[in-house]
Amino acid sequence: MAVLGMGLLGLTPGLPEDALTTYVETARCATDAIESTTRCTTGRHSLRVLNFGKMAATFAREGEVEAVRVVALESSRLAADRLHPEVATSRARQVAAYRELPDSDLFRVERVRLKEPPQDPHKAPRTRGVCPRCAESFEERRGVRVPEGLLCASCAGGAYFEKAAEPLGSRAGKGKGSLVKTL
Ligand SMILES: [Zn+2]
Repeated sequence: MAVLGMGLLGLTPGLPEDALTTYVETARCATDAIESTTRCTTGRHSLRVLNFGKMAATFAREGEVEAVRVVALESSRLAADRLHPEVATSRARQVAAYRELPDSDLFRVERVRLKEPPQDPHKAPRTRGVCPRCAESFEERRGVRVPEGLLCASCAGGAYFEKAAEPLGSRAGKGKGSLVKTL
């Protein structure tokens, strides 16, 4: 997938490539494979994991909205099963089939336009603000503007947790030790 996408952008897989940003739409093992092929990393913000549960990835050059999206075809799974019924696991059948089948049997490729061009955040000025709701500081460009002010993305609806009713430290002395000490 990554080899195909990078090739369409004229880039060489396996070489460190500062100009490339990859958007992966799954958080499964394919993400690790794409990371090692593209050399994009989350720390450099060149690998962006959007877990839509889709076997798809988009490849773009820094600063450009024109990009290439590669989607793994569901039919390639069936083709792999037909091609290698002797191989025990579905994953191993797919790996074998990936080496043999042409890209057109494995992937659908489309040209897409990104909503905004990928930028290296390390090159952009970072202004920080304080969320009026949770009082935590955050990078303003990650915030969401509402009538109340500029909220952090968590308070604006993106929270992955909610506050526990039990106050922190109330479990001290229970189990493996105090939660306060762990933090
Ligand atoms: Zn907040």
